[in-house]
Amino acid sequence: TGQMNKYHKWEETSPYLRAILEGTGRFSVDIHTMPPFGSDLSKWDARFEDYAVVLMNVDGDSWPEATRRRFEGLVRSGRVGLSVVHSADNAWKEWGDWNEMIAVGGWGGRDASAGPYLRWRDGQVVRDEKPGPCGGHGARQPFVVIHRTPDHPVLKGLPVTWLHHEDELYNCLRGPAKKVEVLGTAWSDPANKGTGEHEPMLMAVRFGEGRVFHTTLGHDVEAMRCAGFQCTLQRGT
Ligand code: ZN
Repeated sequence: TGQMNKYHKWEETSPYLRAILEGTGRFSVDIHTMPPFGSDLSKWDARFEDYAVVLMNVDGDSWPEATRRRFEGLVRSGRVGLSVVHSADNAWKEWGDWNEMIAVGGWGGRDASAGPYLRWRDGQVVRDEKPGPCGGHGARQPFVVIHRTPDHPVLKGLPVTWLHHEDELYNCLRGPAKKVEVLGTAWSDPANKGTGEHEPMLMAVRFGEGRVFHTTLGHDVEAMRCAGFQCTLQRGT
């Protein structure tokens, strides 16, 4: 964490995310804060290899090539898991492997060249290659999340549909979308700047031997108060 745009208060959400994970009794969490925007990152070292999983609550400066390579290698080999929360999928358009890890992302200068949209239509995931924007959401409001793989370990035993607390419903995310399993979706309401599509909310991604959990939910602490957000984040991570 440590770098995000002004709409995302990492100083508030990162301690809250730590509390969500540590509340299970299964995690011991360190918060690693990147230096401020514009800092020289050549000597920066987050010691990713010391952890079983890295949760990204960051959207900031490009990492040095060596740092990227090391991180990619750790995730690809399965040595370090990756959990991606909300606007972390806005980060690093220019980093190809990052985009493979998150499967789809938005904003940050992305356009149709980022890859297809992922939509749930007629009981299956559709890769939609049509041109259009990359990243959007309406006003924060409650919405229903629908589990599409209810037997997946992240979701097994949970209610298949649940009402999420008020949050941004991301739409029009695009990316390489390789080896991605869409676990949960939400319907993006055209009356709230939505697409009329079932958009991916919860995803599991394979990256080499590595495993990634990506939740588009969690704009702020208020959204993170939702039990559905917390439970799926705990299990996914
Ligand atoms: Zn947001």
